[in-house]
Amino acid sequence: MTMGRTVTASIDPVGSATIATDIAIVGGGLAGSLAAAVLARAGHRVALVDKRAVYPDEFRVEKIGGPQLDAFRRLGFIRGLASVACPYDRVLNIREGKVVDVSVGQAYGLPYADLVAMARSQLSDPSSLIVDEVTAISSSDDIQHLELASGRHVTARLVVLATGMAGALGYKLGIRRRLLAAGHSVSFGFTIARSDGAPFDFEALTCYGERTADGVDYLSLFPVRSGMRANLFMFRDPTDPIMRELRRDTEATVLRLLPGLHTYLGDFRVIDRIQNWVMDLSVVEGHLQPGIVLIGDAFQTNCPAAGTGVARLLVDVERLCTEHAPRWLSTPGMSRQKISEFYADRDKLAADQQSLKMARFRQALTSRDDIGWDVRRRLHFLRRSLTHRVDQMRPGWLAQVRSALRA
Ligand SMILES: Cc1cc2nc3c(=O)[nH]c(=O)nc-3n(C[C@H](O)[C@H](O)[C@H](O)COP(=O)(O)OP(=O)(O)OC[C@H]3O[C@@H](n4cnc5c(N)ncnc54)[C@H](O)[C@@H]3O)c2cc1C
Repeated sequence: MTMGRTVTASIDPVGSATIATDIAIVGGGLAGSLAAAVLARAGHRVALVDKRAVYPDEFRVEKIGGPQLDAFRRLGFIRGLASVACPYDRVLNIREGKVVDVSVGQAYGLPYADLVAMARSQLSDPSSLIVDEVTAISSSDDIQHLELASGRHVTARLVVLATGMAGALGYKLGIRRRLLAAGHSVSFGFTIARSDGAPFDFEALTCYGERTADGVDYLSLFPVRSGMRANLFMFRDPTDPIMRELRRDTEATVLRLLPGLHTYLGDFRVIDRIQNWVMDLSVVEGHLQPGIVLIGDAFQTNCPAAGTGVARLLVDVERLCTEHAPRWLSTPGMSRQKISEFYADRDKLAADQQSLKMARFRQALTSRDDIGWDVRRRLHFLRRSLTHRVDQMRPGWLAQVRSALRA
């Protein structure tokens, strides 16, 4: 498949100018690709339209773990994920050169493009991926129409907009992005190796920022197939000269910001290009329209440091594709009233709110220097390191106490 060429689906008779389907998903990033696979597996006719045959090497989420894995398992993607990603299950957490605690639990590291490719590979009919750009949408209570850049058309009962942060398409429908925080966080992604070629002494490591003025939340190091991946998350003015220093002299600047890291890394070097992203927090408005539903980043963006983007989009995919969309399709019409049920879904609302709450919390914990947050920050790390020490002395004891208190 090549970019710009239209790859037709079995739902599309060869050469036809109009492709008719039940559900058209616009955007085959993680949200759209997962949604397409889940719906197609359940027997729905699905067309997934993305302007790129292969997701490019862009910096997005690169590690999956914790409750995200439960959702991948429930949706039937856990084996696919495990087959393309690098597993790890022990993260050493440090601050100011000292161990805070150790997180134990299965996690996986992988480039985002591989994650998306895995999701797309789970489409029961791979030809239902249409490589083309959607240039316009018109919607109604019954049938929705998509115009493609190639001049073709798609008709569907339901359109799922999973176009990520690209807003142009929604704009034409009156869907606007409300900016909640411009330049909320800055992220850097790069891969490192030890200068002597030896492996690092840890499986994965998180190093938290030391001084509020630096605005460093944490540097997360975790294995991917090409080496040790680094994700640095900061709350700092994106125009600050430190950004240029991080791009040009990454190794020295990272150690200047996180001096306690040197003992753990030894001499290291960056072995690929530095990727950099400035995130605006935003949420859509004017999205309640007949026949169209927005999921993933197309609905709300997330703070990368909070690590809630994937959790949010998994809730969107699971609730839409296993609950709402199948019910909507079982009766005629695709009214605004039906669509509103998804936006009022309790799990979805909770995930959206949690994402914004965590974005604000991480920013405050990292960079607020008033007395209240200073105390909170100290208590946060003190609690974690005390818990860790008790756990080391009496393994399992704290878990027993917690479950006894809950009972
Ligand atoms: C730097 C960075 C780090 C992150 N780290 C984390 C993390 O550690 N943990 C976490 O949980 N989340 C993280 N996130 C958030 C997470 O990556 C996103 O929430 C997630 O990737 C969004 O997926 P999506 O499918 O909604 O959008 P995308 O992956 O952006 O997909 C959108 C797709 O739509 C297509 N498209 C757009 N317009 C059109 C059109 N008109 N026609 C056809 N196709 C179109 C695009 O080609 C693209 O394939 C991070 C984000 C960034 C930017």
